[in-house]
Amino acid sequence: MKHFEGFGLSPVLAKSLARMNYTTPTPIQAQAIPLALEGHDIMGSAQTGTGKTAAFAVPLVEKLLTDPRGSALVLTPTRELGKQIMDIMQQLLGPKSPIKTAFIIGGESMGKQLAQLRARPRLIVGTPGRINDHLQRGSMVLHDTHFLVLDETDRMLDMGFAVQLERIFKYLPEKRQTLMFSATLPKNILKLSEKYMNAPRRVSIGETNVVAKNIKQDVVRIEQDKKYGELMSQLHERDGSVIVFVKTKYGADRMAKNLRRDGFVSEALHGDLRQNRRDKVMQNFRKKNFRVLIATDLAARGLDVPHIEHVINYDLPQVAEDFIHRMGRTARAGAQGSAISFVSSQDGRKWHAIERLLNPGADSGRVDGPKGKPGNSKKSRKSGKRRFRKRPQERLAA
Ligand code: AMP
Repeated sequence: MKHFEGFGLSPVLAKSLARMNYTTPTPIQAQAIPLALEGHDIMGSAQTGTGKTAAFAVPLVEKLLTDPRGSALVLTPTRELGKQIMDIMQQLLGPKSPIKTAFIIGGESMGKQLAQLRARPRLIVGTPGRINDHLQRGSMVLHDTHFLVLDETDRMLDMGFAVQLERIFKYLPEKRQTLMFSATLPKNILKLSEKYMNAPRRVSIGETNVVAKNIKQDVVRIEQDKKYGELMSQLHERDGSVIVFVKTKYGADRMAKNLRRDGFVSEALHGDLRQNRRDKVMQNFRKKNFRVLIATDLAARGLDVPHIEHVINYDLPQVAEDFIHRMGRTARAGAQGSAISFVSSQDGRKWHAIERLLNPGADSGRVDGPKGKPGNSKKSRKSGKRRFRKRPQERLAA
């Protein structure tokens, strides 16, 4: 499909897409949209930044526009991602749309949400915790929700959210269309997802579990106490917006403070901040009011800030899949990006897990050694399964 026109979408939606300058569908959109319009369940995967949001948002909005009955629910793991998705949905619905929406996330006033829910919204976007609150107090009903989307599916179905999701599924009708999307899909999650879908079509663009190819990767072998100095040099060397991932909320606050002391305008983003503070930080980062965002894995998934040029893994993520998602905060929509990971001698286990995810055929036994080149062992050369698109450049910190 070369143009969106070929999908035969409603005039309102076609107009919105033109307004958004979406003329040509990305590969995941080209494959997923026609299947979704035919009513199939979909398990979709494609690399970060390649247009998964519109792959589910376009058929969802088309359904709302063409079928006066039924409503849709989109579940996301973080409030920030929810906001971003709601924003795309509003753009697709167009100005002054008669279709009412509700945005249901934690950390925001109940009053506004109750008013939105009383107005009988046909589209709800939200995070599982607050949605369950409303379901349990009876202020939200889902019996006519015939269209369900789980974005960042593997995160939504993993242990952290499993209980919440089980509860939500109990309120949903059995007969519905379910779309699931992610850039990473561990096998166990793929299996688990079948429980919630009906004969899903698998739409997979490129390889799953790989870092997008337009990201230049570097690895620096470094000890913990040298990391801050190295970060400063990296920030001095680089222009443009940077996101630095750290392990803890406290660490994020402390680092933002230290960087400000050292002359870099920076802000922290993590789950202990009040929601209006989180909103402000994201708003200012999007507007380029500051250059360096220090974040926990709260910001690892889905966030689309096109001007992020660099990702720095100051600490490695706890979960290997999040490495791929963190990297995906740069190089959005075909742009170039760069990423650097600090790997200390204490990171052996975590780095090994990342290696195994990115290079499933490789013997990563050497990665702990100072000269270990990830995935460059004999075995991986022989198996030919070297899935790091381009070997990360590795060096020892000075
Ligand atoms: P996503 O992976 O959905 O976050 O999308 C990544 C970026 O690509 C976002 O900035 C979108 O606005 C942009 N995008 C998605 N689909 C298209 C399209 N068909 N044409 C132009 N830009 C797009």
